[in-house]
Amino acid sequence: MPEGDTIYRSAKNLNSVLAGTVLTRCDIRVPAFSTVDLTGETVDEVVSRGKHLLMRVGEYTIHSHLKMEGTWHIYRAGSRWYRPEWEARAILANERYETVGFQLGTLNVVKRADEDSLVGYLGPDLLGPDWDPELALANLRREPQREIGLALLDQRNLAGLGNEYRAELCFLRGVLPTRPVGEVKELEKTVELAKRLMEANKDRPVRTTTGKLRGDTAWVYGREGRPCFRCGTTIERGELGDTALQLRDVYWCSHCQV
Ligand SMILES: [Zn+2]
Repeated sequence: MPEGDTIYRSAKNLNSVLAGTVLTRCDIRVPAFSTVDLTGETVDEVVSRGKHLLMRVGEYTIHSHLKMEGTWHIYRAGSRWYRPEWEARAILANERYETVGFQLGTLNVVKRADEDSLVGYLGPDLLGPDWDPELALANLRREPQREIGLALLDQRNLAGLGNEYRAELCFLRGVLPTRPVGEVKELEKTVELAKRLMEANKDRPVRTTTGKLRGDTAWVYGREGRPCFRCGTTIERGELGDTALQLRDVYWCSHCQV
């Protein structure tokens, strides 16, 4: 599941092959922007903002969000793609590389000055230069009645966490995802831990919250019906959502989390 660490790494990799080069091909395959052609423009940089990817090209920004299925691939010019052509939503190439966005959840092209219309609502980015733990904490505390499992996922509070991190953070802090934010003890430690886990995972291809790089990389996420590594209690799965966030799976240990 793409979360902030995945997008950070995608941006870094794309930046390494695109930044400072001139586009020799720009093919945007969504109806609203199908006439956009930035061929001949120079790519300044590719950066992540929470779970959003921003490619700054000439006066424009190509914005994408992977949602559940999306991915960006990098190919040497002329080499064969690993995904079918019909899944491609955006193709940006220079003399040496071809970068292809497959099944992107969202794709927009805006004037660079208007980036905020797409990402301005985001809270401080866990992996961004604007990271501000105090502000993230204040944002989380704004709605003390809201479930912690939802508050952590709401990108307006802090940007970058997805479904896996929120489940793992709640487990590691010993709190049920349904516990209201106002009742979570030492909430600042949850924010600190989120930052620490994201930093630890941002440069490696495998996300882990257990410290193991293969096999059991998560405490509760995706482990329903199996025994808790700490206490042996069966891990449970449910759904959590509200008016702002759609229902998503959540996992917990009813013994380790209260
Ligand atoms: Zn347990």
